[in-house]
Amino acid sequence: MDLNVLREHCLHCSSCGLYETRHNVVFGVGPETTPILFVGEGPGEQEDLRGEPFVGPAGKLLDDMLCIIDLGRHNCYITNIVKCRPPHNRDPFETEQDMCMPWLRSQVRLLQPKLIVCLGRIAAQKLIDPEYRISRDHGKWYNRGKFRMTALYHPSALLRDPTKRPSTFEDLKSLQKMAREVCPEVFEINKPE
Ligand code: SF4
Repeated sequence: MDLNVLREHCLHCSSCGLYETRHNVVFGVGPETTPILFVGEGPGEQEDLRGEPFVGPAGKLLDDMLCIIDLGRHNCYITNIVKCRPPHNRDPFETEQDMCMPWLRSQVRLLQPKLIVCLGRIAAQKLIDPEYRISRDHGKWYNRGKFRMTALYHPSALLRDPTKRPSTFEDLKSLQKMAREVCPEVFEINKPE
């Protein structure tokens, strides 16, 4: 099993009710060799229409955030807790998150990342701690088995509230420092020709 095969299976998933309203399953993108995994909460409208995570204004901001720390989509893997869009961009229900988690677990098993970066509250509460408070805990590092984990504000939250950007800049610097210590090879993954 590799990520392509897993993706093919996931594209046909109807395990939760979100399959009824999706246009596309948004499985995830990035190189299988990367040690860094970013996890958001779920696809929005543009992502649902294009089948890619983090496109549109929030995706552009995520690209800018990665660029600040010498990273990009070519050297990170990006996915979400749920792979299908919740209608009207509501938060994914706990049941939907639980039904979708096996896909993320399989992605993690195949990628074997060293760093997992949650984007926003939903991902942080699912993957780090159910009591996680993004306004209090963003940027902190957690050891979870083989992984080091942290969370940043979701790019959509940064678009809505630019006052969160200075602290996110500090969190990004912390991420860059951790990546240089734990997985410096990530900076060597080149853009495909
Ligand atoms: S959100 Fe996840 S579990 Fe639900 S249908 Fe989509 S892929 Fe399947």
